[in-house]
Amino acid sequence: MSLRLTLILAAAVLASLSPRAQAEEAPAAQQTLITNVNVFDGKNDALTQGQNVLVEGNLIKAIGPGVNAGDGAIVIDGGGRTLMPGLIDGHAHVMINAHFDTVEGNLDPYDLAYRSALVAKRFLLDGFTAVRDMGGPTFALRRNIDAGFVVGPRIYPSGGFISQTSGHGDFRDRADAGFSFQDAGDLSNFERMGIGNVADGVPEVLKATRLNLRNGATQIKIMGGGGGSSRFDPIDTTQYSEEEICAIVEAAADWGTYVAAHTFTDRAVNRLLDCGVKTFEHSFFISADTMKRIAKKGAYVVPQMWGISPDLARNPLMPPEKVPMVKALGKQYADFGRNLLENGVKVVFASDYVGVFADAERARRYEIWWRTQTFGSNFEVLKQMTSTAGEMLALSGPRNPYQAGAQGVIEEGAYADLLLVDGNPLEDITVIGGNTKWFDAAPEFKLIPTLHLVMKDGRIYRNDIDGRLSPEAVTFPEQTFSGILRDYAPSE
Ligand SMILES: [Zn+2]
Repeated sequence: MSLRLTLILAAAVLASLSPRAQAEEAPAAQQTLITNVNVFDGKNDALTQGQNVLVEGNLIKAIGPGVNAGDGAIVIDGGGRTLMPGLIDGHAHVMINAHFDTVEGNLDPYDLAYRSALVAKRFLLDGFTAVRDMGGPTFALRRNIDAGFVVGPRIYPSGGFISQTSGHGDFRDRADAGFSFQDAGDLSNFERMGIGNVADGVPEVLKATRLNLRNGATQIKIMGGGGGSSRFDPIDTTQYSEEEICAIVEAAADWGTYVAAHTFTDRAVNRLLDCGVKTFEHSFFISADTMKRIAKKGAYVVPQMWGISPDLARNPLMPPEKVPMVKALGKQYADFGRNLLENGVKVVFASDYVGVFADAERARRYEIWWRTQTFGSNFEVLKQMTSTAGEMLALSGPRNPYQAGAQGVIEEGAYADLLLVDGNPLEDITVIGGNTKWFDAAPEFKLIPTLHLVMKDGRIYRNDIDGRLSPEAVTFPEQTFSGILRDYAPSE
């Protein structure tokens, strides 16, 4: 044992023996009583009227019409508004906060990190109290949010997504070292910054998986098939052999956690299911039989429904020749959401947007509204953003950093992650930010006017119930970070 460690242990023993330490009891946790609210609990398709909810420390202690608090409690008059669980985004990219080409060519990890602080803050101000990040070095962001240095939701990091060579995560360009086999050890900027890993064969995929676990990944994200935004892998391709996938799943299971896979097709999903992958991202092209198999295995589908919206064709960045295809896909898969439900699949909300800030936020709010159209029910979508998403987060088992209570529900013992909104989201999804506009929405970030209180972990981050914004809520810039990009391109 090192001398330093010996000294630390000796000091700890002495401290525990001192009479002062024995006499002192932990101070009572702060109580907050929210009175006169109608509760959406994340599980039931109706509000429970006229409730009081008592928060003690970071957990919900009691719920009921006559519940009271002790001396020294903070009391908030809910004014007959709806109290609901904080929202959960099951598939987001907090770190890929510029367009792919800019990330690959013009940013370094510090750019991503500083920008991610603003992305995280806006998630929380929009009522998202937990985000599963599906690719990027969010480990330090999570630590610094939890330590109180940065304002943001609870983060579930995947670390760098894992992709085969010429897979959905292979962003090396022809000009990059590493594009040819001779210098395959060299990395793209994506890999250097920890957004993704290119790994082939069992030894390499195991190393990439274990590296992410070592860094604090709560789940492992792999690329199980082709994609729309990557350059060298047609969307119909199946990626990773069964041997590679099963090795990754086993390595994750050895740490008590699970694997999430980017995928679109039956062939890919069934191979991934055979190995025990637990969440299927996107997955738009799968058949009813595959959906039934996913349901039977208790796995989840986490689709960003804007990906099959006809409105996607209105994206000004969309190359004109792609517009007819996008429209056709929207038509062909119009029933995808309803088919998932009919086949008993558990579905979780996903914003899955990469890019600059205003784009991402507009897409997220559009996604909330668009989902209610494609799944046919506000309640179903609210469950996807609360209780079902919270259940999915718990799949991380011992790697889940937040095990003291449930998330996505209002019940005794759950985390005090709470929102107070005007109106009833079961009837009107716009009260939590759902927005019919997307590319035509205002470009600047504006607080959702019907969302009045955001509490995470028992702490209030936004409260304008009495007409005043808390300081946290007003100190974000309205514009994107285009100034930074100009620094890199003086010729512009
Ligand atoms: Zn994604």
